[in-house]
Amino acid sequence: MKTAVIGTGIAGLSAAYFLHPHDEITVYEKNNYTGGHTNTVFVEREDAVRQGIDTGFMVFNHQNYPYLTRLFEQAARSGKNISTVFADKSRLFSPLFYRFLYEIVRFNRLAHRFIKQSPDSKETTEEFLTRHRFSARFRELYLYPMAGAIWSTAADRIGQFPATGMFTFHKNHGLLGISTHHQWKTVSGGSESYKTALISSFKHLIHNGRGAVSVENAADGVDVKDTSGQTVRYDRVIIAAHADQALKMLNNPTALQQQVLKRYTYNRSRVFLDSSSAYMPRRRALWSSWNFLYQQESEREPASVVSYWMNNLQHIPGSRQYYVILDFTDKIQLPHPFFQTEYEHPLYTTSNLGASPSPNCLNEENPQQRIFFCGSYMGYGFHEDALRSSVHVCRRLLGRDVL
Ligand SMILES: Cc1cc2nc3c(=O)[nH]c(=O)nc-3n(C[C@H](O)[C@H](O)[C@H](O)COP(=O)(O)OP(=O)(O)OC[C@H]3O[C@@H](n4cnc5c(N)ncnc54)[C@H](O)[C@@H]3O)c2cc1C
Repeated sequence: MKTAVIGTGIAGLSAAYFLHPHDEITVYEKNNYTGGHTNTVFVEREDAVRQGIDTGFMVFNHQNYPYLTRLFEQAARSGKNISTVFADKSRLFSPLFYRFLYEIVRFNRLAHRFIKQSPDSKETTEEFLTRHRFSARFRELYLYPMAGAIWSTAADRIGQFPATGMFTFHKNHGLLGISTHHQWKTVSGGSESYKTALISSFKHLIHNGRGAVSVENAADGVDVKDTSGQTVRYDRVIIAAHADQALKMLNNPTALQQQVLKRYTYNRSRVFLDSSSAYMPRRRALWSSWNFLYQQESEREPASVVSYWMNNLQHIPGSRQYYVILDFTDKIQLPHPFFQTEYEHPLYTTSNLGASPSPNCLNEENPQQRIFFCGSYMGYGFHEDALRSSVHVCRRLLGRDVL
């Protein structure tokens, strides 16, 4: 089988990893690097050691990432050294989150009840909080910034998230309890180390800087035209780009593909890697791995900057501190960052999260289909969701379990 994979985030790379022993694969990537949101940037530390720092995907836990855990184990078993992947541990949230204890306890209780009693509700998070008279401070200083940091989304967009979907995710991640938080982990050496292990046997088949321009069904295959102007016919194609990008590259999308893919819009954030603590809490005692910053002029302005303290998350030694800063406002100015980029993350609303038909139906449209889809948008937008979607597609294509 001649198979094209479009996109090299975890969705595309894992699909290529599962398929390459069986198929003749070609991997297209529009960026000039492999990995999408798996993006480790290297800096030289004060002690002249080259340090990898993750700027996109950073953390996971065993409870909610069973496929990712298995993928790391599988790649390690097959002789690639990522065995130290589980070495680092960190608590994510600062004691600040516990300032609103009474409201948090009440919220957790009501959210648990809501998921159980109204699984099909279309209520947004904002509507739920208003109905239950939660204070503005609880929303703006606790729930929205915390959820914004988790979902890489501006805090003021969190109110639009469907309450059932968001609360279910929080429950599954141990966030609807005071002492139920899971132990989050980072990848030793940065996510670059797992990426390197994963692609070691098919790296030469990845074409960075060659984006797919169009994907079109033909009588006996699928034609992929890329940015170099070349068109190649494949037996099947896996599109592992974001939903909006996937729809754009389809020349003749089916009605179902249009209906499902156009439901997703994306939230853009600027991302900096810097040593300036300007976007960390003023009191050092309050620093934690994940932090959010308030507009000081008005306490009622929602948080719009999230900063990750990378020395704490990745156990980076030395006195120089490294921060990954997410800016949803376009207002941040850092004159000499080590690195700067932009990422997009699906924005969840009642019209996509939990909506019918489920995005999985894209891969079950008809038995003869040759174009398949995967990516984090097929779930809650996280690494595990992207990997799960690729596992499902590859299981269907190979007719057996892949992980
Ligand atoms: C700042 C940030 C931090 C995050 N941290 C975490 C975390 O710690 N844990 C977690 O679980 N999740 C995290 N996430 C969520 C993260 O997005 C997902 O975990 C996951 O990495 C997304 O994988 P993906 O393969 O679906 O998409 P991506 O990684 O975005 O990959 C899509 C790829 O498709 C390529 N592409 C697009 N169009 C084309 C084209 N026409 N031709 C060829 N290639 C194309 C893109 O260039 C990109 O490489 C974070 C997200 C952000 C923004």
